[in-house]
Amino acid sequence: MLEFQSVGLSYGGVKALSGVNLLIQPGEQVCLIGPSGAGKSSLLGLMNGRLLASEGEVLLNGEKLAELSGKRLRERRAGIAWVPQDLGLVANLRVNQNVACGLAARKGLLGLLRSLLVMGRGEKKEIANLLRRVGIEEKIFSRVDHLSGGQQQRVAIARALYQEPQIILADEPVSAVDPERAKSLVHLLTSLAGEEGQTLVMSLHDVSLARRYFDRVIGMREGRIIMDGKPDEVGLEDLYRLDE
Ligand code: ADP
Repeated sequence: MLEFQSVGLSYGGVKALSGVNLLIQPGEQVCLIGPSGAGKSSLLGLMNGRLLASEGEVLLNGEKLAELSGKRLRERRAGIAWVPQDLGLVANLRVNQNVACGLAARKGLLGLLRSLLVMGRGEKKEIANLLRRVGIEEKIFSRVDHLSGGQQQRVAIARALYQEPQIILADEPVSAVDPERAKSLVHLLTSLAGEEGQTLVMSLHDVSLARRYFDRVIGMREGRIIMDGKPDEVGLEDLYRLDE
């Protein structure tokens, strides 16, 4: 469970978030929408402890993230996968090696290096299985910089799933692809997370995708949550007004 209690965040003098109260239950799929600069990335950054709140508290399963450090923080963060806007893939490594990087959170850097050097049979099978689930099994030995943007996004999704997280955070993961591809990627990520009962929090620019694939939509503007509910309840007009 993720909980925000009166959270504020400032970067120097810039106030990015204020008065954020939020509760996300395990297994929920939540979409953040709002114009650029609304605070979506900042909110996601607070959820996995990459950023620390300037005011209020962020709690993960009842524990205050700000009070965790060292091993305990690493362990908690291992349960949270992060799909960044730029995907964060290593361009000159192969697909299977990039997916294996999902282990860095679970096994630490040494564990990751070991599996990059000599990948065990079990790991190979698990990675092949994940790549089948994201629909690019045949690309397992390709270098990621030889793949299309959409295929690279699938690699980033497989890497996130390989971490076996309880929570997946994705920051506008489909901003760089055409609408058809964006639809299939959002569909893929929501259904894979749904199959595993994982919590998914994704920021999106596209209101129609948010409405189609999410039961809960959080609308943000100028660092505040201005609506939170089922897409039908929050109202299409209000959602569209966010894009103005
Ligand atoms: P969104 O993801 O909705 O585009 P962000 O969370 O990236 O919004 O940004 C919220 C606000 O915080 C914006 O005003 C942005 O300019 C500011 N901001 C974000 N990151 C930084 C940073 N590293 N330094 C200074 N200001 C930042």
